[in-house]
Amino acid sequence: MSAETMETKAALRRLPAVDQLLQAPTVVAAAAGLPRPLVADAVRVAIDNARRAILAGAAAPEQAELEEAAAEQVRALRRKLLVPVINATGVVLHTNLGRAPLSAASLRAIEAVAAGYSNLEYEVDAGRRGSRHVHGEALLVRLTGAEAAMVVNNNAAAVLLVLSAVAQGREVIISRGEMIEIGGAFRIPEVMAQSGCILREVGTTNRTHLRDYEEAIGENTAAILKVHPSNYRVVGFTASVSTRELAALAHKRGLLLIEDLGSGVLVPTERYGLAHEPTVQETVAAGADLVTFSGDKLLGGPQAGIIVGRKELVERCRRHPLARAVRVDKLTLAALQATLQHYLDGTVEQIPIYRMLACTADELRRRAESVRARVLERLAAGRKAEAGRMPAAGAGERSPGAGELFDIQVVSTVSTVGGGSLPGEGQPSAAVAVTFRAAPDAVARAAPAPEDAAAAPAATAGAGRKSVPVSVDALAAALRRQLPPIIGRIEDNALLLDLRAVDPGQDELLADGLARALEAMTCTS
Ligand SMILES: *Cc1c(COP(=O)(O)O)cnc(C)c1O
Repeated sequence: MSAETMETKAALRRLPAVDQLLQAPTVVAAAAGLPRPLVADAVRVAIDNARRAILAGAAAPEQAELEEAAAEQVRALRRKLLVPVINATGVVLHTNLGRAPLSAASLRAIEAVAAGYSNLEYEVDAGRRGSRHVHGEALLVRLTGAEAAMVVNNNAAAVLLVLSAVAQGREVIISRGEMIEIGGAFRIPEVMAQSGCILREVGTTNRTHLRDYEEAIGENTAAILKVHPSNYRVVGFTASVSTRELAALAHKRGLLLIEDLGSGVLVPTERYGLAHEPTVQETVAAGADLVTFSGDKLLGGPQAGIIVGRKELVERCRRHPLARAVRVDKLTLAALQATLQHYLDGTVEQIPIYRMLACTADELRRRAESVRARVLERLAAGRKAEAGRMPAAGAGERSPGAGELFDIQVVSTVSTVGGGSLPGEGQPSAAVAVTFRAAPDAVARAAPAPEDAAAAPAATAGAGRKSVPVSVDALAAALRRQLPPIIGRIEDNALLLDLRAVDPGQDELLADGLARALEAMTCTS
C-alpha cells in the first residue's frame, strides 16, 4: 500500500462521527429550534463532502473548518424553510418577499380565530350550517358601495371564478393593451381560456377606442373585461376607454362589465405622493358589475382575492363548483376582516404598508444615518478587540470607516410600491450604500507600495490573512445568508439597503447584520 493511500485512509478515519459534530457549539447554535433529524442529515452532508474531498486528494480538514462547514449546511437548511427576512430592497409590496406585512390587529384576529373554533360555516343565530363566503361581506359592502362581496384564495382565482361563473362558453371582449402577464406566469389570455370563455381581443397595444369594443359585440358576447395593466405602463400615444364609458356601453347592449383592478386600493394614493390609482369605490360607482382585486397588494392585508359587485352575480360565483376549489381559509378571513376594519375605524396608519408609504424621506434619512453610525461603531469595536489581541497591528487607531476597502454612505434613493401597483411611480427614500474601493481582483493582487499604505491600510492589514473576495455581489450574498436574511438591491455597483420597507424595530438588526457581514468579508483571519 502506497504512503499516499495510507495517508488518505488515516485522514478518513480522523473524520468525526455525526453525533460528535452535532455537539460542536457552532452547529448547536445554527441548529436552534430545527428538527434534529434534519440537522443530522445536514451535518452528514458536510462530512460526506469532506470525505469526497479527501478521496480526491485534498488534505484532511481542520476540525474548526469542518464544524463551520457543518454549521453552514444547517443554516442552509433553515434558509430553505419559510423564515422572516428583512426587506431592504426599497420595494414595499415585494411579491417574492410575501407582499404586505399584517397589522397587529390582523395578527390578533388570526390568533383569536385559529386557536379555537369559529362560526366559519355556521349560522349562529339559526343554529345551522352556513357559508364561509359571507364573512367580510358587510365590511366590503360598506367600504366599496357594492351590493355584495365574496373572498377567495387570491385575485388570480377571483378572475378565474368570475369568468367561469358568468361567461363560460361565451365571448368576452378585452383590449389588446390589457392582455398582460403578471409575475408567476399569470397571463390574462390563458386565464380566460381556462375559464372556458372565448377571448375577443380588440384595439391595439397602445390605443383602444370605444368603437373597437362596440364593433366587436355579437350574438354570443357575455361581457367586457377591463384589466388594470398593473406592472407595466404604455406611455406616449395612448388611448383607453374609461370604466364609466365601458359600463354604459355594456349595459346598453345587455352585457356585463367585469374589471380586474389588480391592486385594489381603498384610499387615495395621492395622499402618499403617488399618482392616483383608481379605487374600488370609484370603479363600483362608475358602473362595473363585478370587480376583482388582491387582499395583499395596496389593501395591505393577507393573500386573498376579493370579488365585489352585483348581488345576483356574486351569488352565481358562490354557487359555481370552482368556488370550493378556490375557497379562502379562516386565518385569511380573520386577518382580512381586521385589515378592512382599519379603513372603517380611520386607523389606516396601523396597516404596515401605509406606515411605510407615509414615511418622509427626511425620516428615512435619519434612520439610515443611525444605521450607518451603528455599523461604523461595531466595526471600530471589532477592530479594537482585534488590535487588543494583536497589539503590533495597530489597526485600532484608524478612524471608523476611514481607509477601509469599502465605503459606507447614506444616499438618496427612489423606493417603489411594487406588487404590480403604480409602475414607474416612486417615492424619495434613503439607503445605506456600501461600495468597494477597488475591483476585488485589483485589491487581492496589488501589494500596496509603502506610500500607498496609508491609503489602503485595510489591504495592508489583510496581508497574511485569508483573502476573501470583496465585491457588492459577495456582500449581498453574505447578507442573504444571515439570519434573518437581509435582502438589499444593487445599483451602480453599490449595495443599497433601503429603509422604506424596513420595520424601524429592525434597524439595529439590520446594522448589526451589515457590520457582521463586512467584518467577515474583510477581516477574517
Ligand atoms: C396581481 C394581479 C393579479 C393576481 O393577483 P394575485 O392576488 O397575485 O393572485 C391579477 N390581475 C392583476 C391585474 C394583478 O395586478
